[in-house]
Amino acid sequence: MNTNEYNYIQKQDEEVFAAITNEAARQANGIEMIPSENYVSRAVLEANGSILTNKYSEGYPGKRYYGGQEFTDVVETLAIERAKELFNCEYANVQPLSGAPANVAMYFALMEPGDTVLGMDLSHGGHLTHGHPTTEINKVFNFVRYKMKDIETGEIDYDELRAVALEHKPKIILAGFSAYPRELDYKKFVEIAKEVGAYTVADMAHIAGLIAGKALRNPFDDGFDVITTTTHKTLRGPRGGMILTREDADLAKRINKAVFPGLQGGPHMNLIAGKAVAFGEALTPAFREYAKQVLINAKAMEKVFKDAEVRLITGGTDNHLLLADVHTSFGISGKEAEEVLDEVGITLNKNMIADDPRTPLDPSGIRFGTPALTTRGMKEGEASRIAEIMIETMRNKDDENKKGGLRTELEALCNSFPIPECFM
Ligand SMILES: *Cc1c(COP(=O)(O)O)cnc(C)c1O
Repeated sequence: MNTNEYNYIQKQDEEVFAAITNEAARQANGIEMIPSENYVSRAVLEANGSILTNKYSEGYPGKRYYGGQEFTDVVETLAIERAKELFNCEYANVQPLSGAPANVAMYFALMEPGDTVLGMDLSHGGHLTHGHPTTEINKVFNFVRYKMKDIETGEIDYDELRAVALEHKPKIILAGFSAYPRELDYKKFVEIAKEVGAYTVADMAHIAGLIAGKALRNPFDDGFDVITTTTHKTLRGPRGGMILTREDADLAKRINKAVFPGLQGGPHMNLIAGKAVAFGEALTPAFREYAKQVLINAKAMEKVFKDAEVRLITGGTDNHLLLADVHTSFGISGKEAEEVLDEVGITLNKNMIADDPRTPLDPSGIRFGTPALTTRGMKEGEASRIAEIMIETMRNKDDENKKGGLRTELEALCNSFPIPECFM
C-alpha cells in the first residue's frame, strides 16, 4: 500500500491509521476467498473518499430538495445511465445504501404488509434478507420457500416451486442466493409467476459482475421485472446497493418513492460517484475478460476438489463460488476448516450446507470463491494450486511444519500477484 495516500490520517489519528495500515497488509498478504469480497480500483477509492461526501442531495436528478445540485446531478445521472447500459434495462435507482436496504425498499414498493414472498430456502442458499426469522422484515411480510430437488446436482425443484406458488399466491417470486453455485432457469420462474400473477425479482447481489460481464445470463433477458443487487461483490464497486427495472415506468416510480422518501434520507453521493466509476470500468472489454476468468478459475478449483473426491454441494459450480462438505470429506467442522485455512493465509467462511445436521456457528461446510484472486490476475494454474493447498491443509491440520511451508508458498504467490490499482 502507498501509505502516503493516508498522510492526513497518519498526522491526525495514529490509532485509525495503524488499523488501516494493518488491514492493507492483511489484504495484500493473504488469499481472499470469501466469494462476496473483491478489490476496488484506486479510482473507485478516490470517488468514495471525495468531497461529494459533504453534499446533501435528497431527491433525484432534476428534482432535489436542496440547492447546489449542478454536479451531483451529473454524477448520479452518469451512474444511472451506465447501470442501464450494463444490465440492458430502462430504469435504475442507484441510491440504496447497500444490498439489504435495496431489498427492503423493493419489498415495500411491490407489496402491502402481510403479502407473501416465495423465495429460496435459506439453508439451500437464500440470503438473510429473504425473510430470515431473525430479521425485522419477517414481521412485515410472509415468506414461503422453494428448495433444491437434489442436493447432489443443485437442480431447483420447479414442481414444488409451482405448487407452493399456486397454494400461497405470492406477490413476489424471488430468485437469488448467496450460497448457491448453480445457474437458475429464469424462464421457469417467469412462467410460474405469470400463472399466479406475481412479480419476478432477481437478487443478483453475488453475481452482478458476472452478469454485467456477460459470463452469466441476465434475468431481464428472460423477462424478469426487477433486479436488486449490491455493487461491491463481483461488480467490484463501492459498498452499496441498486434496484433495476426493465420497462414498467409505474413500477420504477414506486421503487424510487420507496427508496426516498419511503426509507432513506440523503443519498451518499460519494458512493454514487464510486458506482459511476465502477460501472464505467465494468463496461470495458477487460471487465468481460475478468468475469469469464472468474468462472474458469472456479471450474479449475472444482476439478481439483472432485479429483480428490471432496463432497461439493450441488456437485460443482457454474458460477464464482463453491460449497464443500468438509465434515464428510475431512472429518473436521466448517469452523475448524475456516480456522486452519486462516493459519496458512486463506480467508473464507464456514457455511451451512443444505439440510445441515450441524449448527450455524459450527456447520459442516465452507464457502469460497474466485472473484478476489481473479482481480489479482491469477489464472487457472494458480487457482488449481490454491485448491490443492486447501486440501493439503485440511488433511494435515495439526502438522505445523507442513502448514508453515504452505503459508510461505502462499505468501510468495501473493507477492507475485499484487493487488492492482487500476483496471483501465
Ligand atoms: C450480500 C447480499 C445481500 C446484502 O447485501 P449487503 O450489502 O450486505 O446489505 C442481499 N442479498 C444477497 C443475495 C446477498 O448475497
